[in-house]
Amino acid sequence: MDATTVTVTGAGGQIGYALLFRIASGAMLGPDRPVRLRLLEIPQGLKAAEGAALELQDCAFPLLRSVEITDDARTGFDGANIAMLVGARPRAAGMERGDLLAANAGIFGPQGAALNEVAAADIRVVVVGNPANTNALIAAASAPDIPGDRFAALTRLDHDRAVAQLADATRRSVTDVAGVTIWGNHSATQFPDLDHATVAGRPAREVLADALGGADAVTRWLDDEFVPRVAKRGAEIIAVRGSSSAASAANAALSHIRDSLLGTGDGWTSAAVLSRGEYGVAEGLYSSFPVTSDGSGYRIVEGLSLDDRARARLDASVAELTAERDAVRALGLI
Ligand code: NDP
Repeated sequence: MDATTVTVTGAGGQIGYALLFRIASGAMLGPDRPVRLRLLEIPQGLKAAEGAALELQDCAFPLLRSVEITDDARTGFDGANIAMLVGARPRAAGMERGDLLAANAGIFGPQGAALNEVAAADIRVVVVGNPANTNALIAAASAPDIPGDRFAALTRLDHDRAVAQLADATRRSVTDVAGVTIWGNHSATQFPDLDHATVAGRPAREVLADALGGADAVTRWLDDEFVPRVAKRGAEIIAVRGSSSAASAANAALSHIRDSLLGTGDGWTSAAVLSRGEYGVAEGLYSSFPVTSDGSGYRIVEGLSLDDRARARLDASVAELTAERDAVRALGLI
C-alpha cells in the first residue's frame, strides 16, 4: 500500500506530542497503511519538533516511512494527503478579539494558500488550533482550488466529552450512547445536544429521567450541568491539571480523521464543516453539525427536529460565528 503523507503543524507543541506517536503507530490510518510524517513548525518550535522526531525514530514503528521537519509551509504540505493544523496563536493577556483573528489569519491564510499550491489532490484538512472554526474558514478561503468540504474544524473533543458525560450520568458504557450532537462554534457558545441521543437504544431523556428522578430534573441537569460542563471542560482540565488538555485533544483529532477516512458506521459524530444552509446556518460558515462519513468525507445529517430551546442555542452560537466571519472580512482577511 502507498504511504500516506500526514502533515502536522505545531508539531512541537503539547497536542503534537500526544498525536505524532499514535499516527505513526497506525492508530489513525489503520494497521496496514504506511505513513510519512511532516512536522511543520515556526522557527522557535523546530527544536521541540526535532526532539519528537528523535523519539519517533526510537520507537521503530513498522509503518513509519519517514519524518521530515520544516518551517516552510510549501515544503511541509508538498504532496500532503492529510493536514492537521494544530499550531495557532494563543490569546495573550489584553489581546482584543480582532488582534487574535488577525494573528491567526496570518498563519492560516498562508497555510491555505500553500495547501492550494502543493497538497495532493485528495487532501483533507482538520483545523485544531483556535479559533478553529474561523481559522478553517480563513484557510479554505485562501485555497480556492480545494473544495470547501475538504476543510473541517475539530469539535470531536466536545462530542466525545458529551458522550462520556451522558454515559456517566446514566451509569452506562460509552458504547451504549448514540445520536449526540455538538452544534455551532468550538467555543463556550457551542450547543451539546442530547435531544436525539439514545442510551442502549432508548431515548436519552427517558434514561436520564430514570437516573435523575423525572423529566424536570433532566431539563435542569441539561441546562445547569451538562451543557456548561461540556462547553467549559477545557477550563476545568486546566484548573485541575495545571495545563491544557493535550492527550484528549490529540485523540479527538485522530478520531476525526480516522472516521472521515474509514467511515462512521451506523451512527454519527460531530465536526465543524462547511454549511450550505443546513438547519438555517448561514451558507459558507464552518459550523459544527451531526455528520456521517462512508469514507469519502463528512456529510451533514439532515432532517433532525430542533425545538425552541435547541433553536435558540444554535442561533446564539451561529451568531458568534457570523460575528467572527464579519470581523475577519472587515479586516480584509478573507
Ligand atoms: P497546544 O498543542 O496545547 O495547542 C495547540 C492549539 O490547539 C491551540 O490553538 C489550542 O487552542 C488548540 N486546541 C484546540 N482544542 C484544544 C483543546 N481541547 N485543548 C487544548 N488545546 C486545544 O499548544 P502548544 O502551545 O503546546 O503548541 C503549539 C505549537 O504550535 C508550538 O510548538 C508553536 O511553536 C506552534 N505554532 C506553529 C505554527 C505553524 O506551524 N505555523 C503557528 C503557531 C504556533 P487554545 O490556545 O485556545 O487552547
